Amino acid sequence: MAESNLSREAASPRGESAAPAPQVEGLVVALAPGLFEVAVGGTIYLCTLRGRLRKPRPSHVTIPGSRARPPFPSGRPTRGPSPHRMAPPLPATPVPDATDRPVRISPGDRVLMTPLSHAEGVIEEVLPRKAVLSRARPEVGGEHIMLANPDQAILVFATLEPGPNFRLLDRYLALCEHATVPALLCLNKMDLGLPREIDEAAKLYASLGYPVLRTSATTGLGLEALRERLIGRLSLLTGPSGVGKSSLMNALLPEADQRIGDISQATGKGRHTTTGARLLPLPDGGWLADTAGIRELALWNVPAADLPRCFIELRPVADACLYEGCTHAAAEEGCALREALGAGRITPSRFASFERLLEAARSEEVPHWALPAH
Ligand code: GDP
Ligand code: ZN
Repeated sequence: MAESNLSREAASPRGESAAPAPQVEGLVVALAPGLFEVAVGGTIYLCTLRGRLRKPRPSHVTIPGSRARPPFPSGRPTRGPSPHRMAPPLPATPVPDATDRPVRISPGDRVLMTPLSHAEGVIEEVLPRKAVLSRARPEVGGEHIMLANPDQAILVFATLEPGPNFRLLDRYLALCEHATVPALLCLNKMDLGLPREIDEAAKLYASLGYPVLRTSATTGLGLEALRERLIGRLSLLTGPSGVGKSSLMNALLPEADQRIGDISQATGKGRHTTTGARLLPLPDGGWLADTAGIRELALWNVPAADLPRCFIELRPVADACLYEGCTHAAAEEGCALREALGAGRITPSRFASFERLLEAARSEEVPHWALPAH
């Protein structure tokens, strides 16, 4: 059958149609090189990808016979080559944003796929993402997409053993703010106690609007509240290692769902063959994605100029500095962020986190005149 006969409009969204090879929408729950597990309803299909994903191209370019495609959501900054190095674009030419178009499939992506049997299929197309949680890969560079289309991020830290690293928490929160993904703090190991200064810090985050759940994977404290938060959502469970993420996942998921997936059976190498997060179905609906212990969390693609907005307390004054290009250093005159610090609208600890991220973001930004010419 010719591929052009596959009418997207005619396809039933759940694949119940009797039409030959209808396309159905599914969720990528795990992947390995060249192989994808796609969930459609309660069924997991082991899929390959038809051809390659199309690279972005300006929407004014029409390819004969191509269908009009919906625009991808925008709003994320580009990292590509500086526009100064390229020929100036024609007026009103939409510049494609390479970061918005999935050119590689990630866990959490929604795809259109054609089932080939009750357990196998072919991915035809990746749908636009509504959000993505990424970090910079340590050392090797490049983007590591932790999860596409997350509804929320559960940031797990322990009260003790190891005590919370608030600098890391602030990084996570900035990353979530930049990606416009709601975040909540899960303070685990409550059975070990809650030192007063940590309780106070937790209250600060709650006052900023981040829900704080106090849990113990050991005693079961707070797990019901956590379970409720997860229903019907695609959630990323992340945090440093040793804080109890696996223990929480084990408590939240029925044993049957912690099985080794089809990819691992297909490749015969166990669950570690999957790359990136694996999404596990929650008993009351929704999906939980884990990340292998993240030790470093460098922000990806967050320009220094965007950082004040990634700290909720600084957002109201993000554009209020007296001078264009204010460095927000202590010596700056009329720095609205420093004034907010002086007025106690942001704590010194949070401001220190902001400064660290600012410094890291600036070191990433190479001025265009310093880039090699073509
Ligand atoms: P992960 O690295 O974040 O996945 O952490 P694990 O789930 O492997 O837990 C690390 C250690 O902390 C293990 O020895 C767990 O038994 C222990 N642990 C996990 N959750 C709790 C908890 O709520 N209370 C206590 N006391 N120990 C916990
Ligand atoms: Zn400033």
